[in-house]
Amino acid sequence: MTAPPSESPLNAFSVDVEDWYQVADFDAVIPFAAWDRYESRLRRSTEKILGLLDEFGTKGTFFVLTWNAERRPDIVRAIHAAGHEVASHGYAHRIVYEQTREEFRADVERAKKTLEDIIGEAVLGYRAPSFSFTAESAWGPDVLLDLGYRYDSSVFPVRDTLYGMPDAERFPYVIRERDGRRLVEFPITTTVLCGRNLPLGGGGWLRIFPYAYMRWGMRRVHRREGRGAVFYIHPWEVDPEQPRMQTAGRRGFSSHYVNLGRTEAKLRRLLGDFRFAPMRDCLGLV
Ligand SMILES: [Zn+2]
Repeated sequence: MTAPPSESPLNAFSVDVEDWYQVADFDAVIPFAAWDRYESRLRRSTEKILGLLDEFGTKGTFFVLTWNAERRPDIVRAIHAAGHEVASHGYAHRIVYEQTREEFRADVERAKKTLEDIIGEAVLGYRAPSFSFTAESAWGPDVLLDLGYRYDSSVFPVRDTLYGMPDAERFPYVIRERDGRRLVEFPITTTVLCGRNLPLGGGGWLRIFPYAYMRWGMRRVHRREGRGAVFYIHPWEVDPEQPRMQTAGRRGFSSHYVNLGRTEAKLRRLLGDFRFAPMRDCLGLV
């Protein structure tokens, strides 16, 4: 394995720690109240990602869905003990713009406290389910700032039926500031082509397109803008043996099962080609 060039920009590596059935695409077939009835494959798939990061000497940020943390705190402890950043993916994986401000507040407050009780350390970061910080949930960052979060990584500057703020800034910026406290937004990475923001990010975009797309896009962001990228993945995306369910997804189709068998190999290439660090390190919060 050859090490990525040390002069290239540092990228943020992130994992949204949720089980295969907790994805928004399954809302219609596996409601929240039924989650306990399905096989949890989270420990095994998270360990696979931890193993890969260890192999490449990389640290990342794990945004943990705390419904899982309450039931399996050992997974959170293993992430923390391996030197990764533990951050919040909320409690119940509800789309933010489908909640009231009060419901959202209760969800992210419970998540932060649960994780802090497990790791004995402040949780700084939050990522919304399905990047659902949009124009309809403009109060989201205010709630995070109130609760002591220091950064958010929920804005995806693209146009999509499920998420997206196409006109949002594309690189870290202060999204809220009050009484000397700041909340920094770390948007999911895009590259601009012909005036449009193309999604890079990770997840489905890594699975659907050939690896060359992600490599091209990240290098393009480095070269043209001199900035690092934000990459994200889910544990279930490296678990090709997960159960198959019929779902039309929230977009009328679902990409959930596309190329699951190829994701691990792509991830290995990515980890070999680029330098990564936890989000808090990239933002200079530690
Ligand atoms: Zn999620």
